[in-house]
Amino acid sequence: MKSKNLLANNKRGRRSFLIQGLYWITGVSVWGIQGGCSKRQDDERIDFCQDLSHLSEAEMAVRKQLAYVEQSSFADRNCKNCQLFVKSQEGLSCGSCLAMKGPVAENGYCSVWAPIN
Ligand code: SF4
Repeated sequence: MKSKNLLANNKRGRRSFLIQGLYWITGVSVWGIQGGCSKRQDDERIDFCQDLSHLSEAEMAVRKQLAYVEQSSFADRNCKNCQLFVKSQEGLSCGSCLAMKGPVAENGYCSVWAPIN
């Protein structure tokens, strides 16, 4: 009888140990996946503002023709206060522009800058 109880306790102990191990492994996995996803989202946010790979040669030529720069040299003129700037809906530091394709930085500037009225 005593050996049966000991065996049952042993089984319960082993089962409990295995279940706790599964919780631990699952928790670590979920934590790892969440960390990986948020890092990937951060990378994608950064990439979106830098990525010009989807632009054609003609679209790149327009950017060059308008002398677009990511950092304005004017204190009071930048994309953020230009009427052609379209703010990002996702809270990115870049948006888009009605004059050219591709991302433009809030602090960017080009030769067709037009002040917001
Ligand atoms: S027109 Fe030029 S200054 Fe204005 S948002 Fe576009 S790139 Fe920026």
